Amino acid sequence: MKKRTLRLIASLFIVACCQALAAQAGSVSQAQSPAAGVQFLGHASFHVFDGTSAIYIDPWFFEGPDRAKKPALRADQITDATLVALTHEHWDHLDKAGLATIMQKTNARIAAPEKVLAILQPLFGDRLIPLNPGQSVIEGRFTITAVPSGSIQGFLVRTPQGATLFFSGDEFSWASGAVEAVKAAGRSVDVAFLAVADSREFPATLESFRRFVTEIKPKLVVPMHEGTFTDYKGADHPAYEPIVAAIGGTYQVLDVGGILPLK
Ligand SMILES: [Zn+2]
Repeated sequence: MKKRTLRLIASLFIVACCQALAAQAGSVSQAQSPAAGVQFLGHASFHVFDGTSAIYIDPWFFEGPDRAKKPALRADQITDATLVALTHEHWDHLDKAGLATIMQKTNARIAAPEKVLAILQPLFGDRLIPLNPGQSVIEGRFTITAVPSGSIQGFLVRTPQGATLFFSGDEFSWASGAVEAVKAAGRSVDVAFLAVADSREFPATLESFRRFVTEIKPKLVVPMHEGTFTDYKGADHPAYEPIVAAIGGTYQVLDVGGILPLK
């Protein structure tokens, strides 16, 4: 493993731990926000930023009474978006009302697979960019590449700092082509944001997780798309942690609103 990569992961991990602790103490403030990072907005939503670009992945703002973990932001609080990247058309990933607000307040473009573009074409017309498996979009100093992930697609994001991030979108499957696509990209994954589930209810997800991380060997795994609703149990994190430890990686739960700095 390269020293540079080790330093990156060490810094990601250490600051994430510190922020998690600070969040518990209620002391995180805007002043502590890094210049570049990945912020977890809740469920499968993320904000990837470097001071120039602000990429929102699957932004979703539903605040119904059955949502246990509320989103970190409302749509009308987003004024910096330069790109929205969408993995698929399910309601918890494609928030048309939220997108309308973002598109009204910013000059953002939306990158998404054809099925999503067909839905959004009447709303946002020429601000749409196709992003299907195998295709890439460059946003500032970031490159976003779509890869198969389960029955939908995920994203590989190359950061200006040289890190590779993987966002699974929805559940991922070892057999879906995601492993092959990530390997074909010739990149080792520094951080994998993976949709997980209560492994007692969905043991297949735990096995898919095991097979995926064993093949890809991400250095840091951040679980997401879990514990969102009041009528579902959250992910059984202690069942996932040793799987990541076995491949020499770290499993790190991010609080909603938590930020992984990119250095
Ligand atoms: Zn979903």
